[in-house]
Amino acid sequence: MKDSNNKTLFKLLIHGGAGAILRDKLTPEREQAFRQILTEALLAGYTILAAKGSSVDAVVAAITFLEDSPLFNAGKGAVFNHEGHIELDASIMDGATRMAGAVAAVTTIRNPICAAHKVMTQSPYVMLIGHGAEVYAAEQNLELVDPTYFYTQHRWDQLKKAIAKEKILLDHDAESDEKYGTVGAVALDCYGNLAAGTSTGGLTNKRYGRIGDSPIIGAGTYADNRSIAVSATGSGEMFIRTAAAFNTAAYVRMKQIPLTEAVERTLEEITAIGGAGGLIALDTKGNYAMQFNTSGMYRGMIDNNGVAWTGIFADN
Ligand code: ASP
Repeated sequence: MKDSNNKTLFKLLIHGGAGAILRDKLTPEREQAFRQILTEALLAGYTILAAKGSSVDAVVAAITFLEDSPLFNAGKGAVFNHEGHIELDASIMDGATRMAGAVAAVTTIRNPICAAHKVMTQSPYVMLIGHGAEVYAAEQNLELVDPTYFYTQHRWDQLKKAIAKEKILLDHDAESDEKYGTVGAVALDCYGNLAAGTSTGGLTNKRYGRIGDSPIIGAGTYADNRSIAVSATGSGEMFIRTAAAFNTAAYVRMKQIPLTEAVERTLEEITAIGGAGGLIALDTKGNYAMQFNTSGMYRGMIDNNGVAWTGIFADN
C-alpha cells in the first residue's frame, strides 16, 4: 500500500491507558515525561517498520519499551493486587494468520508481551497462566526477574489508599488520582499486515486471581487483515462483556461499517453498561481511530514519514 506521496505506507499507534487525566492535575514535568516515553516507544516500533520488519515485531518493540518504563501500568510500574503482589497480563495477535498468544497472572516475566509472542509463535497454545507460563518463558530463554523489580513507590501508595477506602481502583475512576493504565499497540507493516498487542498489571487492589480484558483475545486485543487491529484499555470487565476488540473488528468486516464509526459503536456499548476506557484501531489502508470515553488517554502515532505524534487529553 502506498501513501499519498507514493511512499510505502506503514503505521504504528500506541496507548498508555485511559482515565480521568486532567490538565490541571498533571504537572508540565510529568506531562513531558509521558510524551517523551510515548515518543521513544513509537520510534522503537518505527525503526522496525522502516527496516521492513513485521507489524508483530513493531508491536512487541513498542510495548516492551512501555513495559520497561515505570510510568505505565505494565511491566515495571504495574499496579499491586490486594495482597501486595504484582500480576501481569499480556496478549498479541497477528492479523495475517490470526495466530495469537497470551499470558496472564505472571509475576516474574520481565516483559510479558515477549512471553505472549513466544506463546503465539513457538507453542501450540494461545493462553498460558501463572506458574506454567513462567516455566514456559524460562524454557524460551526470556528474562525472569525477582518480583521486586516491578515495584514502584507510587503504585504501593496507590494500593494503600485503595485499601484504606476498600475499593478496587479502576484506573478509570473519576476519583482516582492515578489513572495510568494498560499499554497497547497496533501496527501496519509495509507488507500490508496488521498486528495488535496489549499489556497490563490490571487493576489496583484486584483480588482472587482476577484477570481483565487485556490478555483475552477478542476483548482487549484483536487483529485480522480482513478488517482491523485493535487494542483496548479500560474497565476490563465491560470490555470482556462486550467482546470489545472483536466486536469492533466484526462491525468492519461483517457490516462494512467505517473504522471510526465501528470504534464509536463499541464505545457506546461499553458506556451503556457502565464501562470506561478507550480503543485504538488501524486498518490495512492506514485508516485509524484513537477514541475514549474518559477525559484522557495516553496515546501516540507514527507512520512512514517518521514524525511521532502524541496525545494525552481530549484536545491533545
Ligand atoms: N483493561 C485493564 C484491565 O481491566 C486495565 C486498564 O486498561 O487500565 O485489566
